[in-house]
Amino acid sequence: MFAATLKDRCEASGEAPFLLQDDKVVSWAGLLDVVTRTATLLHGNGVRPGDRVLLACGNTPTFPYLWFALRWLGATCVPLHNQATGAHIRQVVADAGIRFAVGDTPSIARLVADAGFDPGTTLGFATADDLEQAVGGLAPHPMHEAELDAESSLLYTSGTTGPPKGAVLSDGAFLAGGRELADAIGIRADDRILVALPLFHTNPQVYAVMTAIATGASLALLEKFEPAKFLEQAIRYEATGFTYVGTMLAMLVRKLPEHIPPHKLRFCTGGGAPVGLWTTIEDHVGVDVHELYGMTETGGWVTASRAGQRRRGACGTVRPDMDLAILDANDEPVAPGEPGQICVRPRAPFVLFDGYHGKAELTLQKFRNLWFHTGDLGAVDAEGYLVFHGRADDMIRRAGENVRPADVEAAIAEHPAVDEVAVVGVPDEVVGQEVRAVIVPRGEFDPLALPAFLEGRLPKFAWPRYLSVRPALPKTATQKVRSALLRTHESDDVD
Ligand code: ATP
Ligand code: MG
Repeated sequence: MFAATLKDRCEASGEAPFLLQDDKVVSWAGLLDVVTRTATLLHGNGVRPGDRVLLACGNTPTFPYLWFALRWLGATCVPLHNQATGAHIRQVVADAGIRFAVGDTPSIARLVADAGFDPGTTLGFATADDLEQAVGGLAPHPMHEAELDAESSLLYTSGTTGPPKGAVLSDGAFLAGGRELADAIGIRADDRILVALPLFHTNPQVYAVMTAIATGASLALLEKFEPAKFLEQAIRYEATGFTYVGTMLAMLVRKLPEHIPPHKLRFCTGGGAPVGLWTTIEDHVGVDVHELYGMTETGGWVTASRAGQRRRGACGTVRPDMDLAILDANDEPVAPGEPGQICVRPRAPFVLFDGYHGKAELTLQKFRNLWFHTGDLGAVDAEGYLVFHGRADDMIRRAGENVRPADVEAAIAEHPAVDEVAVVGVPDEVVGQEVRAVIVPRGEFDPLALPAFLEGRLPKFAWPRYLSVRPALPKTATQKVRSALLRTHESDDVD
């Protein structure tokens, strides 16, 4: 179904641009031309419907060419995190049953060198132009007919809380994610979405690529996120939107000029924008923030701050093809506004993932009474707006009090000498868990002066008892803080 929808879009949008990178412009018609021929090349290399093929590729047009060619053939795309190291690559290869890998030459070289992948079962291209040339003389491959439930991608979660888990996502999940988001935000054919996040992740895949397929909007693809250049790039590409994660906004805001030059940006979509950043992006830059809540397992987003219905600090309301509930520890719904676990149920077939690959027991644990239990905490008010509270496992329970790491982080982040901060709970024999803050300073930071600063900003029970100052925080490839690492290494560097 993915391939059929892509074909319809390419035919309908023809010579209109699909993707821009530097001076290169790929039209929708050109995309279809390259994709169908690339499928012939892949088929000639032994790729067959149902095969799971590793896609190891940076943010260049080669990524969508290969992703779509795999779906054209009926093969499953397994995108590799671009920061994956040897052990992680070997784990994904074994877990997903990978026999063939495609991508760009540097990523393929890493697969071979770091993970011992057989170079004879790879296909790499130095540039998108090289790929176009390699397939130029080939005939287009016939499209593999697939239904909505066809396995589309095996997407690995970010690995924030532990080893990444492979979520099996159908064509239906991808198509619905893009279509519904375009509808919720009001994305149109004349929009251009600037993509700086790595393409292997659901965020740009659904919020940018799939919305483009749904609407005919175009993409401006950046090889990497460079905060100081981002605004200038948005202006040069005449972008009207971009996708974000919270850390990216924080880095961007620090580099903003005092006077914002004229630009065409009108929206951004993503997750993890605290109210302060949201306000700056809207009031100072003039871009509407559409905060979403979602995860890999839900094919991207579940709730969205819709056009005309945005509330700072909330993640908006649930999409029409899913149900949202806040359940207590007994799986009973809580009263409106009360906190509990965020749970999601499909209203339409195939919009959620089909389970964790090779982890039947974990999948069963997460789905109870048809509800997918996200492991996140939040509250939904009487009007259906979701406020995200954090991961259940991250909530710190100190001497009978619940401490939300995000609250402590927000209070500490107000300190002018704090560049970044992450707060985790560490085990404590007396109070159960203690609060630990890891701070990346900006200039002179005096840890001993922190309590005085927190006076009046945070209740005393939430003050960090452990404080550690570091040059940087450990992050995932999508710029999320790997909080699990801060918890397990607590003895290394507690002051
Ligand atoms: P892993 O499951 O491997 O530990 P991960 O959960 O970070 O990694 P993703 O699927 O990329 O992998 O992220 C989903 C998570 O991101 C959600 O479960 C939630 O904890 C967090 N998240 C989602 N939306 C928001 C939001 N609007 N604000 C803050 N955090 C969010
Ligand atoms: Mg997760």
